[in-house]
Amino acid sequence: MTCSAPLRGLPAVLASAILAAPFFAGSAIASAPQQKTQAPGYYRQMVGDIEVTTLNDGTAKMDAVKILKGIKPEQLQKDLARSFLKDPYDWSFNGFLVNTGSKLVLVDTGAGTSMGATTGRLVANLKASGYQPEQVDEIYITHMHGDHIGGLSADGKRVFPNAVVRAAQAEGDYWLSQAKMDGAPAEQKDSFKNAMAMLNPYITAGKYKPFSGDIELVPGVHAVAAAGHTPGHTAYVVESKGVKLVLWGDLMHVAAAQFPDPSVSIGFDSDSEAAKAQRAKVFAEVAAQGDMVGGAHLPFPALGHLRKAGTGYEYVPVNYSTLQ
Ligand SMILES: [Zn+2]
Repeated sequence: MTCSAPLRGLPAVLASAILAAPFFAGSAIASAPQQKTQAPGYYRQMVGDIEVTTLNDGTAKMDAVKILKGIKPEQLQKDLARSFLKDPYDWSFNGFLVNTGSKLVLVDTGAGTSMGATTGRLVANLKASGYQPEQVDEIYITHMHGDHIGGLSADGKRVFPNAVVRAAQAEGDYWLSQAKMDGAPAEQKDSFKNAMAMLNPYITAGKYKPFSGDIELVPGVHAVAAAGHTPGHTAYVVESKGVKLVLWGDLMHVAAAQFPDPSVSIGFDSDSEAAKAQRAKVFAEVAAQGDMVGGAHLPFPALGHLRKAGTGYEYVPVNYSTLQ
């Protein structure tokens, strides 16, 4: 193809370079099937000297309007539209792998097989990120809902054979209790059964060690009680060289609605008022201090910061960075 006239507004040298490109060549373009897959779902972030890897477990379609409370449907639709979303939208599931230099700690394990084919990818992404399940020393559970513990066991066996599982005493006292399950409404019984099925292989092996209070679990990682979403819901704080990352579990679920208005809550909180109070407290703290946050249901890579905006907050995702 030849053409002597420059493209309108482009320098002649640049125009001729573009005209030489295959797109303009007029020849047939080889057809290639669309791949329809994503890059492996892991993202690395240093927190001082500690390496944190977000491990995506996948996404699943969710109707926010069906599960949020304390917001009018019209307002929710406005919030979603402002984020270029509409119901149902892809909701992220994430765990975090923390390498302190001496211990490899996994915070939450994804949904396993409990939520269908678009989730349950945490272990594949852990391997893609350069680690093996056998290398995980400790697993810290934010709470025992299926999308956080579903990756712990498969076919009655521990997926992380060398790991000790740690969770707040109050969380296990609730979800691992036959008496509590017997007294729970019918629609909640499966959650208890799932918690028992996922935790029992570790309990039997002597590898389940609950803790109480806000304690340091390994140097650089400590637990902070944040009960409300569940009775023993816990955040884990990674801290090194004055840099802090707050892994807040399920303090929020729908970014588009709950950052502008943190009083919006989710239908499956154990104690909605307590969950709301925890959300208000932690949002205010991390915004004031400039701490990084990591959320199980923030969009991948699920790491960023909050800044105050009117009566609510704006979420600023991390700036993608190559590491050396
Ligand atoms: Zn969750």
